Amino acid sequence: MFDNLSDKLDSALHILKGHGQITEVNVAETLKEVRRALVDADVNYKIAKEFTTTVKEKALGQDVLTALKPGQLMVKLVKDELTQLMGGEAEGLNLSGTPSVILMSGLQGSGKTTFSGKLANYLKTKKTKKPLLVACDVYRPAAVNQLQVVGEQIDVEVYSEEGNLDPVKISQNALAYAKQNGHNVVIIDTAGRLAVDEAMMTEIANIHSAIQPQETLFVVDSMTGQDAVNTAKAFNDRLNFDGVILTKLDGDTRGGAAISIKSVVNKPIKFIGTGEKMDAIDVFYPSRMADRILGMGDVVSLVERAQEQYDEEEARKLQKKIAKNQFGFDDFLTQLHQIKKMGSMKDLMGMIPGAGKMLKDIDIDDDAFKHVEAIIYSMTKEERSTPTVINASRKKRIAKGSGTSVQQVNQLLKQFNQMGKMMKMMQGGGGKKMMQMMKG
Ligand code: GDP
Repeated sequence: MFDNLSDKLDSALHILKGHGQITEVNVAETLKEVRRALVDADVNYKIAKEFTTTVKEKALGQDVLTALKPGQLMVKLVKDELTQLMGGEAEGLNLSGTPSVILMSGLQGSGKTTFSGKLANYLKTKKTKKPLLVACDVYRPAAVNQLQVVGEQIDVEVYSEEGNLDPVKISQNALAYAKQNGHNVVIIDTAGRLAVDEAMMTEIANIHSAIQPQETLFVVDSMTGQDAVNTAKAFNDRLNFDGVILTKLDGDTRGGAAISIKSVVNKPIKFIGTGEKMDAIDVFYPSRMADRILGMGDVVSLVERAQEQYDEEEARKLQKKIAKNQFGFDDFLTQLHQIKKMGSMKDLMGMIPGAGKMLKDIDIDDDAFKHVEAIIYSMTKEERSTPTVINASRKKRIAKGSGTSVQQVNQLLKQFNQMGKMMKMMQGGGGKKMMQMMKG
């Protein structure tokens, strides 16, 4: 995410390293580079200029903070200002109303249908709501079908009316249906066009005034840069929407939309989309995003994701197995799958401070796990639970069966043994021993 921008900001802020004092000259030099980095990331020039002016004023008024190193101080000022620019605090959804009605707006291809599904899934699993998805794209039967596929995937009901060409009527009927059937959230997916046009705007404005949603969300593809900001403005002028959804942040986006949109329309970014799958949705936290942009990682989100996957019952079972020396390859595989559920490796690595930068040129391949899986799947039940039985001829068989080499099998066995040793140490109250080992 935002690799280019992160790199450029990093080198801009490096200018100050090595200087004992913040002077007007080195601040100006640094900020010129920061501004250039922002403009290159497709942040509007005016916003970038205002941004650096504010940081400059703050930097020069910071006599009190001379105790800090200037480089660190500048990073902090830039981070605080980036956070402010992206909205300050995280803002949740307004889920008042029975049912609460959420209206999706945005251009075709922005990710409305996908996000409608993600949001329904999020509300269902995290907030124990009973959502209803409503298909209001009356022009493209394929769009209705797409929402139905999404609904099936996440087990959420989809309301549609074949043959009805009036989206206002459909959404009104859907609300009545939701009330009768105990749905407490209604998410309405609407038709988009390839570009802003009057007919589309009128249509969505009509739906908006007929159903008075608690939340009108504007969905926008973050890859579209400045266009994203212009489209947001056009929709906001007409709909006065409540929040922005930035999709496709997993792609090679430059970051301009994320940074500028709030200050142009003065509406918060509420969620981000980070992939095509239904669980690729995150609440947008301006300060965490600023951390990521500045290459500081996002440990808070990483820990949250780990916690989501943490299953206490499973953890207890695992502990018992380790204590009894029964941790086998099947358990190893279970652990592996849990890590995979947390997200793509590249995404996870990006959350570790410093790691994103270190690994940015390395193509982290989620398929790397596939070898490990293949090797384990080629083992017999006995070999999985008692790996010590794996002798040379068995290794050959396993390598052949999994399409890998004996060397790869050896490597996995070695890693598995090391992991076993480490786990034993942690079990035996060996925290201290572990620390010693890590210190070398
Ligand atoms: P709509 O026309 O606004 O309803 O857009 P869709 O939901 O059909 O999305 C258009 C395309 O973008 C589809 O291929 C989606 O799979 C893809 N897409 C949507 N959100 C994301 C995202 O967050 N990341 C990525 N990589 N692709 C996405």
